[in-house]
Formats: sequence, structure tokens, C-alpha cells
Amino acid sequence: GKKDGRGTFRFFETAMDEDLRARALLETELRGAIVAGQIEPFYQPVVSLPGRELIGFEVLARWLHPERGTLLPSEFIPIAEETGMIGDLSYDLLRQACRDAAAWPPHLQLAINVAPQQFQDRWFAEQILAVLNESGFPAHRLEIEITESALIQDLEATRATLTSLQNLGVRIALDDFGTGYSSLYHLRELKFDKLKIDRSYVNSITMSDERAKLVDAIIKLGSSLGLVMTAEGIETSGSLDWLEGQGCDFGQGYLFGKPMSKPEADLYVEGGAPD
Ligand code: C2E
Ligand code: CA
Ligand code: CA
Ligand code: CA
Repeated sequence: GKKDGRGTFRFFETAMDEDLRARALLETELRGAIVAGQIEPFYQPVVSLPGRELIGFEVLARWLHPERGTLLPSEFIPIAEETGMIGDLSYDLLRQACRDAAAWPPHLQLAINVAPQQFQDRWFAEQILAVLNESGFPAHRLEIEITESALIQDLEATRATLTSLQNLGVRIALDDFGTGYSSLYHLRELKFDKLKIDRSYVNSITMSDERAKLVDAIIKLGSSLGLVMTAEGIETSGSLDWLEGQGCDFGQGYLFGKPMSKPEADLYVEGGAPD
């Protein structure tokens, strides 16, 4: 009856209030966490195919929350993007990563993820240059990963940043390739250095012939355009063998190593992959 209905409504309202409060709390906490240095770079190994030698790491953000443990990017990167904190967060992360990586052998590369709105910022390339100068980390060892959502917003701003960074010697990778709506259009309009084939494709190789053919076609397309190809999310040696056979240049995934803390990455660099 009426009573039940009102009860339900009130319950719903309260649940919404709680969501908003939880979200507001997380936002405040995140602001503090950035200042307190609780956002740390984790490192996931990238290896060459077919040599399977370590060529570098992708930086993945982790929030080392004092009460809630290690939080994944999906729990805080969207908030950082919506509130405009992503710039400060990324700046600190890149500084720390360049400092960490400066101690590794000079052939090892660093790849960092960048949010769409950062890439559209006309001062972005200058910021990168400032971090490189300060840390002494050479531009040619740095790669910046952007997703297609960065491109749809403002193609001209994207093109300008892309060119400035490439002129510095920084390489640009198109991340999650194949998941966007107009991947081919973007390949035609912009000059990337690398394509990262999305995990969803890589995992589907062993599922059917048609899917494997699609991944093969992506590798051939990228290679014919002079792009370096990385397959992400490799979990099985079956997928690895197949990708190697198709001529994919680099691989990344749990098979080689999960994202790890700096001390773990230091050990990985020294001793190679622990099995
Ligand atoms: P991404 O750039 O596509 O990064 C790869 C994600 O796949 C990472 O998740 C990684 O842990 C996961 N992964 C790697 N290999 C495997 C595998 O073999 N199997 C499975 N199941 N997963 C694998 P993570 O660390 O949770 O990051 C998620 C996303 O958050 C990233 O996706 C990236 O888009 C974003 N992100 C992470 N760090 C940053 C950052 O500093 N700035 C920005 N703007 N975005 C970030
Ligand atoms: Ca990435
Ligand atoms: Ca990716
Ligand atoms: Ca992804």
C-alpha cells in the first residue's frame, strides 16, 4: 500500500545519500592522498618477442590506502579525472617513476598512461619536458599511452601535443587498440609509434579461428604502417607462441608478471622473471 511505497522511497533516498557521501569522502581522501604521496607507481614488465627479454615497464597507478589496502585505478582514476586532480596525480606519478627508472639499466623503457584531458592541455608537453629535465631521464626511454577517447574530443589539440612530444623524442602508443569506434580513422589522421592490442583480442586468440585471423590482420596492418605492436594481457604460453609466430614485437601480461612495487621491480630487473 501507500505506506510500503513511501518506505521504499525513503530507503532509496537514504541509499543515494550514502553513495554521495561515500563519493564525497573518497574525493576528499584522494586529495589528501596525492599530497601525502599515497599514490604509487607499480610496474608491469614488457618483454620482446621472440626473445622474451625485459625491455621495460608500464607504470600503473596504485593507491596505498592506510585503512583499505591497495586500491586499483578503477577505484580512483575516474574521480581524479572528473575533479581535475588527474594532472597533479600524474605529475607526481611520472616524477617518481622517472626517478625509480633512472637507476635501471639504460636500455629499459618506461610507459605511462595519460588521461584524455591531459593530452588536450596545451602545456602538457612542457610539463613532460620539465619532469624529464629534472629527473635526468632521457626522452627516448619514455613512452606515453593514450586511448582513443583522447582523440575524439579535439583532434587538432591532440595532433599538436603528439607532434611536440615526438619532437622531444618521446614515443606515443595508441592503447586498447580495437576497442574504440574509429580506430582506422585515427591511424590515418595521426602518426603513432606503437599500437597496443587490447587484452580482449589477445584472450580471444584461442577461442576461434575467426578471432585469431582478426588479431593476425591487426598485427599485419600495424606492421605495414611501420608501427611497433605490443600485445597486452598475455596469460597463456599458447597465446604467446601464437603471437610470436605472427610477428608481434612485444608482449605484456600476467604470464610475464603482474604490476609490482618498486622493490619487486628492482628484483625483476636484476634476476629476470620469477616463475
Ligand atoms: P591499461 O592501460 O589497459 O592497463 C592494463 C591493465 O590490464 C592493468 O590494470 C593491468 O594490471 C591489467 N593486466 C595486465 N596484464 C594482464 C593480464 O594478463 N590479465 C589481466 N586480467 N589483466 C592484466 P590496472 O592496473 O587495474 O589499470 C586499469 C586501467 O587504469 C589501465 O588500463 C589504465 O587505463 C588506467 N590507469 C592505470 N594507471 C593510470 C594512470 O596513472 N593514469 C591514467 N590516466 N590511467 C591509468
Ligand atoms: Ca596502458
Ligand atoms: Ca591497454
Ligand atoms: Ca584496458
